[in-house]
Formats: sequence, structure tokens, C-alpha cells
Amino acid sequence: MEHYDAIVIGMGPGGEVAASRLLDAGLRVAIVERELIGGECAYWACIPSKTLLRPTEARAEADRAAGLARPVLDWPMLRDYRDSMIRHLDDAAQAEGYRKQGATVIKGAARLAGTGRIEVDGQHLSADHVILATGSTSVRPPIDGLDQVPVWTNREATTLTDIPGRALLIGGSAVGVELGQFLARMGTRVTLVQRADRLLDREDPRLGEIVADRLAADGIDVRLNTQARAARRESGDTVVQLDDGSSVRTDVVILGAGRRPRTTDLALDTVGVQPGGRGELAVDEHCKLTDGLWALGDVTGKALFTHVAKYQGRIVSDAILGRPRAADYTAVPRVVFAEPEIAAVGLTTAQARERGIDTVSTELDVAESIARPWTYETDPRGTLALTADRSQRTVVGAWAIAPQAGEWIHTAALAIRHQLPVEALADTIAQFPTFTEAYATAAGRLLRDL
Ligand SMILES: Cc1cc2nc3c(=O)[nH]c(=O)nc-3n(C[C@H](O)[C@H](O)[C@H](O)COP(=O)(O)OP(=O)(O)OC[C@H]3O[C@@H](n4cnc5c(N)ncnc54)[C@H](O)[C@@H]3O)c2cc1C
Repeated sequence: MEHYDAIVIGMGPGGEVAASRLLDAGLRVAIVERELIGGECAYWACIPSKTLLRPTEARAEADRAAGLARPVLDWPMLRDYRDSMIRHLDDAAQAEGYRKQGATVIKGAARLAGTGRIEVDGQHLSADHVILATGSTSVRPPIDGLDQVPVWTNREATTLTDIPGRALLIGGSAVGVELGQFLARMGTRVTLVQRADRLLDREDPRLGEIVADRLAADGIDVRLNTQARAARRESGDTVVQLDDGSSVRTDVVILGAGRRPRTTDLALDTVGVQPGGRGELAVDEHCKLTDGLWALGDVTGKALFTHVAKYQGRIVSDAILGRPRAADYTAVPRVVFAEPEIAAVGLTTAQARERGIDTVSTELDVAESIARPWTYETDPRGTLALTADRSQRTVVGAWAIAPQAGEWIHTAALAIRHQLPVEALADTIAQFPTFTEAYATAAGRLLRDL
């Protein structure tokens, strides 16, 4: 049996970071991937969705910039570019790249076979360290008849070849909002069904309200407090029955109802590990499960983002390389790449209160406060909200909806992560005219109320 220093199972962004760092350090590494090296993110999630969203964003920005005529959106050209961005679903170059770095590359589904041992298609390998980076899969909600109608998960949605005439989106989180806006702006009649009483229901309620208005302005029919119950085919249409008694006729049902850690075929029982209630692998602060067994990325259920998977890849590789440090998730940015961008970081006001924090919050209309929204577009808009801990005088949470908010939210991420005093944020000189200037104004308001 071939023995390695480390075996990485699953080569999404998290597995890739861990494997590359271990290889760079000179370790003997085997990587195992059952589909494509690059994972969900590279082929069916972040990369294609952000590639698809960019032209509709640029067109909307052009519509709002003084003196610009509306650019023409060419779907076949966009589709071709998306295909090149997802490497035509071919990872041969990635496999070759890892071989050149010295890795043993195995394409196949791995399962554990006891401590420090794995099995792939009858081949047995052992290692000092086994890293589980197997990601997550789309949740299929219990809707009667769903098997009989056209259904897209994120995979079909991000690799679509034709724009559907009508779409029913299930789920009002980041995936639903991004896909809904993209399709609506490409001409699809979109209905978005959300079980909760607001969109982006893990964020501050006010953000959900603003986003619902924005989607309505795109012509999206947003149904809150609503669930799909049953689906059927009728005269060439798909008809989806909702729990409020109404029904929606559509061409396709798109699932954005959450994701579940992918652990089912891993034979975790052979190493005495049980997934948690949401299917997640509960790791410690070093992403360790047991001695020599590690997990990272979506499979840990921590925060299902590529940047978290990559961060955990650094945490695990550092621990294996003898430089252990505890993971800190206090300031993970959460960006929805809608237009305008939606970004949040740290605690919501409700979460802060649940933790017993005496909070002070402020919400700033950036168009009323700074110059950049006006130089940026003729109909300026944007909101920045900050929540502070009154006793510590530090910011604990922030959200923004405005152009490029996904870029400038990182000022708040730094402030939260490093517990910067609100005074420091208020006294920081930001370049004029940028959206970042909003922080000094918002922090100044917080100081007034602290
Ligand atoms: C539509 C959509 C858009 C998104 N956009 C963003 C975004 O803009 N920004 C962001 O940060 N996040 C985004 N995400 C989330 C992001 O895609 C995930 O958080 C990220 O892919 C997680 O990385 P990972 O390495 O944990 O797993 P994955 O990317 O899921 O990769 C896991 C890999 O493990 C392999 N694997 C599984 N089981 C086995 C096995 N037994 N043996 C061998 N290989 C196995 C899989 O084939 C896969 O390649 C988006 C998600 C979706 C659905």
C-alpha cells in the first residue's frame, strides 16, 4: 500500500489550498477528486454565476451613468465566455499542474477505510494525515411531483444554454437573489418563493426589505411566507402549487433552498466519526476531527463560502506543518453579487443582542451623506448600517447595499476582526470621493449615540 504524508479527498477551493501548501512545503501528497479539480465553485457555483452576472450589472450601471447609451447584451458571446471560464468542464490542465507539483493525482470517489487509510476504486492508500474537503450538495425540498417536472439545481442553472421564458425559484438566499436577478434581467419572467418572512433571512431584516424592493423593481414576483407544495405537468407547462392556494405556471423550477454537507459515501463509521444534525463534520478550531483526520470547507458546515474553505485550507495545512493557529470566524464577509451589491459581516443586531451585547446601531443613506454615489450614477442610492457594542465601543456588525459594497465591506471586516475602536473608524481618512468615506460618517453617528 502506497503511503503519503497527506491525502486530500475533494479538490474544491478548500482542498486545493491545503494540497498546494503541503506540496509547496515538500510533503508527499495524494489528491483524490471524483469529478473535476476545482470543485463546485470553479464549474457550477461562484465562477460561472459571477461571470454571468457581470454583463447585466455593467448594463444596469451604464443605464445609470450620465451620457451613456445602453450597451447591447449578446447572450451567445456571454455563454461562450462562461464556458471558457468553467474550462469547458475539463480539468486535464489542473490534474497535470498538480502532477508537475509532485502530487499523485487520483480521479475517483474516495472512502475512508480505517484510521489513516482510504480506498478509491479498489486502490488502497495510507497517510499520516487525511483531509476531508468533500463540499456540499443542493438540498431537494420535499415537493410532491418534483421528479416529474424540469428542475435545475445550481449546476443546470449556472451552465444554462438557453434563457428560459419563465422560472420559479425556490429560496430567497444569495443563490436565489443572484440567479433571480440575472434571469429577470435576461428577460425571464421570474417568481421567487421564500419560506421565511423576508429575503436573506439570516441578515438584518431591514436588508431583506431593501432587497425585496430591488427585486420587485426588476419585475420579479417575490412571494414571502410561501412554500411550494406540489408540481405537475399540464399542457406543456409546469404548474407549481403553493401553500397559499395559488399556483404558478413555469418552464423550469430552480432550487436554491440550501446546501447539505457531502458526507454520505465517506464511510465515516470506519474512523468512528458521526456527522452532526445538519450533516456537517464538526471540527475543532484547527479543523481537526480526530488525530490525523481533518475536515475543511462546506463539509464542516461553518459558513458555506469559498473564502472560508480557502481559509480553512490554510488553517489545516499550517497545523499539519507544525504552525497551529485557531480559526477565527468573527468577520467572514457575506456578499451577494446582485446589482447593487449586498454585503454583510459580523453579527446581525439580533445575534449581538442574543449574545447579551448592549448594541447601538446606525443606518446611513449614503446618497445623503457622501459624494461618491452622485459621481457614480444619476439616480444615487445605497445604505450602510453599523452595529456597535456600547460597552466595548467597537463595531460588531455591518451591512451595506450599494455599488461595489462587496469591495468596501472589508473595511468593516478588518474593524470587526481586530476590534477597532469606533473612534478609530471615525478618524480614518478615506479617499475622496469613494464609498469607503461612508464609514467615517456612520462611525461619527455611532459615537454620538454611544
Ligand atoms: C450558485 C452558487 C454560487 C456561489 N457563489 C459563491 C461566491 O460567489 N462566493 C463564495 O465564496 N461562495 C459561493 N458559493 C459557495 C461555494 O461554491 C462553496 O462554499 C465552495 O465551493 C466550497 O468549497 P469546498 O472546497 O468546501 O467544496 P466544493 O467546491 O464543493 O468541492 C468539493 C469537491 O469534493 C469532491 N468530492 C466529494 N466527495 C468526494 C469523494 N468521496 N471522493 C473524491 N472527491 C470527492 C467533489 O467532487 C468536489 O469537487 C456559491 C455556491 C453556489 C451553489
